[in-house]
Amino acid sequence: MSRGRRVYEGKAKILYEGPEPGTLVQHFKDDATAFNKKKQDRIEGKGVLNNRISEYLFQKLGEMGVPTHFVKRLNMREQLIRAVEIIPVEVVVRNVAAGAIVKRLGLDEGTQLPRSIVEFNYKSDELDDPIVSEEHITAFGWANPQEIDEMIALSLRINDFLSGLFLGVGIRLVDFKIEFGRLIENDMMRIVLADEISPDCCRLWDIETQDKMDKDRFREDLGGLIEAYREVARRLGLFIENRPGDGAGPVLVSSK
Ligand code: UDP
Repeated sequence: MSRGRRVYEGKAKILYEGPEPGTLVQHFKDDATAFNKKKQDRIEGKGVLNNRISEYLFQKLGEMGVPTHFVKRLNMREQLIRAVEIIPVEVVVRNVAAGAIVKRLGLDEGTQLPRSIVEFNYKSDELDDPIVSEEHITAFGWANPQEIDEMIALSLRINDFLSGLFLGVGIRLVDFKIEFGRLIENDMMRIVLADEISPDCCRLWDIETQDKMDKDRFREDLGGLIEAYREVARRLGLFIENRPGDGAGPVLVSSK
C-alpha cells in the first residue's frame, strides 16, 4: 500500500495522502505531549498500542451503526481512513469528575456526575482549546445547529457503548474527547466520527483499584504508561504483534 505526501503533522499523529483520492493514511507516533506541548516526551510503543486500540474501538462503533472515517488498519502504526473536513470543535463527554471540570467547578475528582455531560472546546493550540458553547459554534460558523445536534446524539451513543464495553473489562470510562468530520458521499454530506479513540484521549480507571490507565500517567508523572496502555489492550482481547523495530517491547506469553 503506497502512501503519498505528508499533508498534516499533529502532536501524536501524521496524515499522509492515501492510495486513492479521498483517502488518507493516519500514522500514530510515539510522541506524548500534555499541557499544550509544555510537557513532551517520546514513549516507545505508544503509537502501536493506540493504533490497535483505536482500530478496535472504531470497528466496534462502526458495527453498531456509528459512521466513522476508519477503513482498515494497514500495519503496526498506520490505518487507512476516509479524508474528511474536520469540524474545529473537540467534543468531551464526562461521566465522572476529573481534569479540567474539577478545577473549573471546584468538584472532587472521582465524583459521579448527575448525568453524562457533553462539552465543546474550540480546537486552537494558541488559545489552549477553550471551552465554548453552542452559541459560539454557530455564531462563528464552526458548525450549524443540525451538525451540533448530530454530534451530541452520536457522542452520547458512543459514550453508552464505550462505557459498557469498558465496564465489561473492569474499566471505568471517566471521560473522553472525540472529533467529528464532514464526509461528502454521493453529493450528500454527513457527520462521521474521525481522529482516534485511545487512552491518549480518554480517562480510564481500573474499577477495583481506581488506578489510572490513560494519559494522566504521563500528565501526572505517575510512570508505567506503556504498561497501562498494554493492559487496556490486553483486557479488550487485543493481541499486539511484536516485530523488531516496532518498539512495542517484549511481550511475555503465558504457557498456561
Ligand atoms: N482531552 C484530549 N485532548 C485535549 C484535551 C482533553 O484528548 O486536547 C481528553 C482528556 O484526555 C480527557 C478528556 O478529553 O480524557 C477531558 O479532558 P479535560 O477537558 O478534563 O482536559 P484536561 O484536564 O485533560 O486538560
